[in-house]
Amino acid sequence: MFRHVAIIGLGLQGGSIGLAVQACLPGVATSGYDISPQTRARAAERGLVSQVCDTPEDAVQGADLVIFCVPPGAIGPVAQALRDAIRPDALVSDVGSSKSSIAAALAEALPDHTVIPAHPVAGTENSGPDAGFASLFQNRWCIVTPPEKTDLLKLSALVEFWETLGANVEIMDAEHHDLVLAVTSHLPHLIAYTIVGTASDLEEVTRSEVIKYSAGGFRDFTRIAASDPTMWRDVFLSNKDAVLTMLQRFTEDLTALQRAIRVGDGEALFSHFERTRATRRSIIEEGQDDARPDFGRGDHRRNQR
Ligand code: NAP
Repeated sequence: MFRHVAIIGLGLQGGSIGLAVQACLPGVATSGYDISPQTRARAAERGLVSQVCDTPEDAVQGADLVIFCVPPGAIGPVAQALRDAIRPDALVSDVGSSKSSIAAALAEALPDHTVIPAHPVAGTENSGPDAGFASLFQNRWCIVTPPEKTDLLKLSALVEFWETLGANVEIMDAEHHDLVLAVTSHLPHLIAYTIVGTASDLEEVTRSEVIKYSAGGFRDFTRIAASDPTMWRDVFLSNKDAVLTMLQRFTEDLTALQRAIRVGDGEALFSHFERTRATRRSIIEEGQDDARPDFGRGDHRRNQR
């Protein structure tokens, strides 16, 4: 399918792809680059790719698949800088968490290359070169968003690539991806960032009380709110329209619940909570999470993003 995979950005996603390729596609060469010298050194120590390069040009040289695994806002500029270094017949992809604006940036940066964006819906709240692990994509979804008139042979090679890494692949329109992920991932992160900020700012509740009684639900929000600030800043800026659409809808639903509490409408609250409990059951039944109280995460945390 591919002989040489180049990875730009050796953090959680890039490192996991490098390890997964080495585990699932022995014989395929892997090379990589990261902007930070410390990350490059650690990536070499951990063997995230077989060759860690000192320049991005060296990393992509000869590669027939190049995957950008840098924060969403960096993907376009990094691709642009590598326009002349990437083989003309190489397939270029990325793992960015939003798709429409990144696809547009990649198409502008690399007008003569085949670009097929993708988003593995798999991650943790950890980032950097120590965060990656080979099984990150096992039984997780990877959404591929091919532009119109995509080279079908290259598309099927990319699909096969992700399936070999253990993912279930879904092909989707980039705009639809952005709406779906706005509600399943971006909005929950925004809510977590908000609530953790609010609790920390409350003057009548001390900081030690917030930490001490965090098991009351707050703790699960803090895990999400610990996610990488650079990446999430870029996610909200790059998926602005879809996030604002879903936020408007969320605000209306929150107002309806607020009203139910104010007027003492227990029936409305109960039926809402019953419906949300059923959603949780479906997620477990479909194998997308674990029913155990610690979500089965243990030390090796894995969850959807
Ligand atoms: P990460 O662990 O922070 O890794 C990103 C790496 O890219 C960092 O080591 C960063 O270096 C490096 N980098 C930044 N700018 C660069 C540049 N110009 N050239 C080369 N390297 C550069 O983040 P991640 O979680 O792997 O996220 C990477 C991408 O995956 C993002 O686009 C994100 O939207 C997407 N994604 C993330 C998740 C998730 O759960 N985390 C899930 C699915 C998709 P420094 O930190 O040293 O600057």
